[in-house]
Amino acid sequence: MTTTEQLRHQICEIGKRAWTRGFVAASDGNISARLDENRVLCTPTMACKGFLTPDSLCIVDMEGKLIEGEQQPTSEIKLHLNIYRQRLDIRSVFHSHAPYATTFAVTGQPIPRNVLAEPELFLGHVPTASYARPGSKEFSKSIDPFVHSTNAILLANHGVVTYHDSVETAFWLTEMLDAYCRILINTKALGPVQTLSDSEVEELAALRKQLGYQP
Ligand SMILES: [Zn+2]
Repeated sequence: MTTTEQLRHQICEIGKRAWTRGFVAASDGNISARLDENRVLCTPTMACKGFLTPDSLCIVDMEGKLIEGEQQPTSEIKLHLNIYRQRLDIRSVFHSHAPYATTFAVTGQPIPRNVLAEPELFLGHVPTASYARPGSKEFSKSIDPFVHSTNAILLANHGVVTYHDSVETAFWLTEMLDAYCRILINTKALGPVQTLSDSEVEELAALRKQLGYQP
């Protein structure tokens, strides 16, 4: 069982990694972790994720109301809460504007499947949710068509959200997705991609289920 104090440190550590990797510019992005069925720990609004301190984080209830903390919670907390409400297995949500994944989100091009084993294994199909103004109620609901079938969703003209059973794994899904998108964009310069065979893809899909990466 991870304590609140450990989660505070993990969120700061992941914030640092996300900022260093260029996934979040200025005050972009937000990170949260579920504490129990009624409380969520999250990053404050307008804070650079590279320089978070454990005591700068906020605790909110499932309506997004501040319970503990000096600062206001991220304006996108409703997106996180919508995921926690619908997916009881989820312990952490990571939202960023990871640039290669976001390139797909702004061009509207679907992310190709069956190119690399690891993204196929850990991510599977990554859908794109329709655009809605960040922070709005419509924005938090935009993921509804996909939230039960995947742990990674592109947000049209905005960014990406990934979620899983720990702060680190939720971040890993974005890191993996962004690295995959970078390779896909590189292939535009080099030429056609050789895809995996049907049987190779089936084998990875079975493994994805077995490892708990397919909801
Ligand atoms: Zn955003």
